[in-house]
Amino acid sequence: MSAPAVPSYASGISDEPLLGDTIGDNLDRTVARVPDGEALVDRAQGLRYTWSEFLAEVDALALGLLDLGIVKGDRVGIWAPNCAQWTLLQYATAKVGAILVNVNPAYRTHELEFVLNQAGVRLLVAAREFKTSKYAEMIEEVRLGCAALETVIITDSPEWSALFVDGDVSRVRAVQAELSADDAINIQYTSGTTGFPKGATLSHHNILNNGYFVGRLCGYTEADRVCIPVPFYHCFGMVMGNLACSSSGATMVIPAPGFDPKLTLEAVAQERCTSLYGVPTMFIAELSLPDVDSYDVSSLRTGIMAGSPCPVEVMKQVVERFGMTEVSICYGMTETSPVSTQTRANDSLDRRVSTVGRTMPHLESKVIDPETGLTVPRGTPGELCTRGYSVMLGYWEQPDKTAEVLDRARWMHTGDLAVMDDEGYVNITGRIKDMVIRGGENVYPREIEEFLYTHPDILDAQVIGVPDQRYGEELMAWVRLRDGVDGLTAEQVREFAAGKLAHYKIPRYVHVVEEFPMTVTGKVRKVEMRAASVELLGLEAAAPTA
Ligand code: AMP
Repeated sequence: MSAPAVPSYASGISDEPLLGDTIGDNLDRTVARVPDGEALVDRAQGLRYTWSEFLAEVDALALGLLDLGIVKGDRVGIWAPNCAQWTLLQYATAKVGAILVNVNPAYRTHELEFVLNQAGVRLLVAAREFKTSKYAEMIEEVRLGCAALETVIITDSPEWSALFVDGDVSRVRAVQAELSADDAINIQYTSGTTGFPKGATLSHHNILNNGYFVGRLCGYTEADRVCIPVPFYHCFGMVMGNLACSSSGATMVIPAPGFDPKLTLEAVAQERCTSLYGVPTMFIAELSLPDVDSYDVSSLRTGIMAGSPCPVEVMKQVVERFGMTEVSICYGMTETSPVSTQTRANDSLDRRVSTVGRTMPHLESKVIDPETGLTVPRGTPGELCTRGYSVMLGYWEQPDKTAEVLDRARWMHTGDLAVMDDEGYVNITGRIKDMVIRGGENVYPREIEEFLYTHPDILDAQVIGVPDQRYGEELMAWVRLRDGVDGLTAEQVREFAAGKLAHYKIPRYVHVVEEFPMTVTGKVRKVEMRAASVELLGLEAAAPTA
């Protein structure tokens, strides 16, 4: 009898234990270790703090929250683009045990009202405005409809300054001592790219450890300076950025309130950053700046690309042109704090650019057949599941929704399709919902997108399935072209792909665009693309009616 196939299951080993601290205690520990190291740089506001200055501000703000009557478990919302105030509030709420509710800076009144009510936010801190978002005005519009909301503080107002209380810090320490690392400390609304937002509820233990181990795998020490252009309202900014830095003593550098490729590279050059973060589209924007080579980014050693499929070509370019030789890819989702797998600096370049790495320390991964729930053999595609310290407590006050994704054995079912190879490296092939079935053949858009990146005229590509009477679905590619390229037809793409891709994987339609519809965290809204394509191609008759 032959031995059973090796299952697509892996557990991440480490000779380093998990942290048992709360976020506040962990911060105090770092400050005691590197009081004079630089903690935070906010370039737009010209603010700089050493760790001891940062802690003094955090403690003063924590005292202000206590004076306002904020107690453990209260929900405190933050609605602002990236700024020092965001970070200070993140740590001050953690110190008093208030649950920070991250509000997406792109929200408008309808979504704002929904999250304020769903989470029962008592205190909302917000920027006055940013670009087209008039936060203060929008809050006034919905305020009456938010029963729990008692106080609103705008960050450039005297009320914000008054919230920093120069008082007896032992009051903060006393409250801190009453907190458990397993308490909920953060709610992050996530809807992926579809559906109504659900509040992933995360504990100190969840996010502190995730930030810490991301930092460990990037090799962070107090000598590192991390450029964080990704939004704080998402785990990428506040966990992989802020918490990775505060748990290792590295510096958090905020290049700008919102993403700007020039300001990002300027920050790297002037602040001598050693690490640069971004979703793939951010790196693409930076690499395609006409003056990209004029920035001195020689200080870069590492960085993280994550959030959506990271094209091999783009990974290669950040290594070659930005010198990010140790760059890593992380894969994860808000519900898992977020990172579940990560490439290691000593993985081969090929593995580092073409997979999302291996299971993080102390976590488990498995790939299952979504129909049967059984673990598939290595090399077979299926749904990726994650288990361990990083899995959220649940969706805030939505036990039914929680039960849809978290099973009895506490595996988080990600909804992502993945393949695990013999050595435990994971490849994400797409969202289950994005898989295209053309004439009975499963087509993974990711594969076609990777192929299209090799076309010299194509800057970025996204592939979707559109309805088709004959095949059920047909492939359509939306492409962004390089500067100076006039156009690209489906015929030209077909010629380029002929002989290189199986016929059923060659896009039937090609649509040239300037931009893709995106979420603030850099995820392409494929649902929106599909709807627009149906209209564009006049396929309403073939589209299934909802
Ligand atoms: P969010 O909860 O907003 O962070 O979205 C999580 C989703 O982003 C995951 O379920 C994946 O579909 C996608 N994602 C995140 N990182 C990666 C990655 N490195 N490669 C492919 N997809 C990713």
